[in-house]
Amino acid sequence: MKQAKRSFLVIGLGRFGESITKTLASLDHEVMVIDKDEAKVNKVADLVTQAVHADATDESVLKELGVSNLDEAIVAIGDDIQASILTTLILKDMGFERIVVKAKNDYHGRVLEKIGADVIIHPEKDMGIRVAHSILSGNIIDF
Ligand code: ATP
Repeated sequence: MKQAKRSFLVIGLGRFGESITKTLASLDHEVMVIDKDEAKVNKVADLVTQAVHADATDESVLKELGVSNLDEAIVAIGDDIQASILTTLILKDMGFERIVVKAKNDYHGRVLEKIGADVIIHPEKDMGIRVAHSILSGNIIDF
C-alpha cells in the first residue's frame, strides 16, 4: 500500500541530513531543506519541493518561509550544538507535531530531551547497536 504523502522540513545537509532528504524525496514526500551552506542547498535543489539557503537560527526567516505548515521537522545540524538547540527550540515553539534531532554527544542529547525534541538520534551509536544485532542474527544486510 502506498504511504500517504507527508511534508518534512530538513535543516542541515551534512551526510545525515542529505541522506534523509534524498530518501524522503525519492519516496515522493514533500521536503523543504534549509542550510546555511549554499553549495549544499544547490546540490539537492532539483530533488526537493523547496531548497533554502538560510541560517535556521533566525526565527524571522523560519516564520517568513511558513515552515510551520509542514508536518514534521528533522534537525540535522552536527558540530554547532548551539545552533542545533536553538533551532529545535524555535521549531518547538512553532508547534511542530514531531521534531527529530541528531545529537552530537550524550550531553547534547540530554539538552534536546529537556527542550522537548521528540526523537533524538545518535547516528554512530544507534547504528552500532543495529549492526551488532544484525551480526548476531546472522543477517548483516538487513539494517
Ligand atoms: P554529518 O556527520 O551528517 O556529515 P556533521 O555532524 O559534520 O554532519 P555539520 O557539517 O556540522 O554536521 O552540519 C550539518 C549541516 O548543517 C552543514 O551542511 C551546515 O552547513 C548546516 N548548518 C549548521 N548550522 C546551521 C544553521 N545555523 N542554519 C542552517 N544550516 C546549518
